[in-house]
Amino acid sequence: MHISRKAEDIKPFLVMDILEAAHDLPNEMGVIHLEVGEPDFDTPLCVRTAAIKAMEEGKTHYTHSLAIPELREAICAHYKRTYGVDVDPSQVLVTTGSSAALLIAFAVLLDAGDSIIMTDPRYACYPNFARVLDAVIDYVPTRNDGFRLDPDRVRAAIHHNTRAILINSPSNPTGVCLDRDRMAALAESGITIISDEIYHGLVYEGEQHTMREFTDDAIIINGFSKAWAMTGWRLGWAIFPKRLIRAAQKLQQNLVICAPSFAQWAGVAALEKAGPDCEAMKEVFAKRRIVMLSEMEKYGFRVESRPTGAFYVMANIDHITDDSYRLAFDILKNTGVGVTPGIDFGHEVKSFIRFSYANSEANIIEGIRRVGLYLKGL
Ligand code: PMP
Repeated sequence: MHISRKAEDIKPFLVMDILEAAHDLPNEMGVIHLEVGEPDFDTPLCVRTAAIKAMEEGKTHYTHSLAIPELREAICAHYKRTYGVDVDPSQVLVTTGSSAALLIAFAVLLDAGDSIIMTDPRYACYPNFARVLDAVIDYVPTRNDGFRLDPDRVRAAIHHNTRAILINSPSNPTGVCLDRDRMAALAESGITIISDEIYHGLVYEGEQHTMREFTDDAIIINGFSKAWAMTGWRLGWAIFPKRLIRAAQKLQQNLVICAPSFAQWAGVAALEKAGPDCEAMKEVFAKRRIVMLSEMEKYGFRVESRPTGAFYVMANIDHITDDSYRLAFDILKNTGVGVTPGIDFGHEVKSFIRFSYANSEANIIEGIRRVGLYLKGL
């Protein structure tokens, strides 16, 4: 039986492996999930209500490939309100999660053999988007810069085949944010930036900037999964430069057709009505971040760079092992706590473990206690 080389070679998303192994553990272990990258909150009621209403009204058909105009306008209003920038609805593409938006953005910029610059560490799935397009990845390490991408290093990595630079602030897995100066410098690189802003709305210290403030020629990626607690709705968006939107639209028409219609109507409600719900969830995350960091300090975890956004904390475990994959499974087996191995995010963090604070305060305290005691005993 034939299976393509690409399908054969693609790496599993390790966090999913951990999650699935955690589900196989006996109930008595009281499994605590500190590996998952999704909010534990329910989607705000006003959003769910809007989806039900849309379904009842029969809004269950294909929509315009870019999205219903109401949602594209609501997204533009969001950019004006949040960042003071003007976006034209004709440049907005709504698709099935920011994942599909990323794939379309990569496909619009990269031919086989073209290069994309991304950070090491970075979100586990990014390299695989490049691989399915036969694009080449140039990694820029960030660990020595406190996990903040250095624009000078990016400039040094650019060569004749570089077609895109991918940035992600706040970052998964580090929770670190890029400041205004770095973003402005990156915008000057002369290469199209893809800015994954999926963790916007979850910044707890300092300012939050969209790449769109610094250039009109970037592709901005965002979506409803994180700040609106809507992972299962599969609803994300991208803003394309005028020169690229038609190409992106053609890809969407062929590969996706459109985002789910009732989810789009829910998206309108999310942007127009769920502000207070999002604020309340952010407050809870903000408190959990402090709790997780102080609990980790108690047990001597080595957090090298203080996270200020998203819902992740990375801890260095190189005094124990550089095999974070093995250690993550050992931790799970021995403590019932799911954590994500750093190797999922790149070589630079192969001896790190990522903890997610998208869980209750009680579970964070108990989870860190169990892992802390286990690691001390090794
Ligand atoms: N980008 C980053 C950095 C992420 O962490 C995730 C989800 N874990 C995504 C994109 C994809 O999210 P979604 O497709 O649900 O919008």
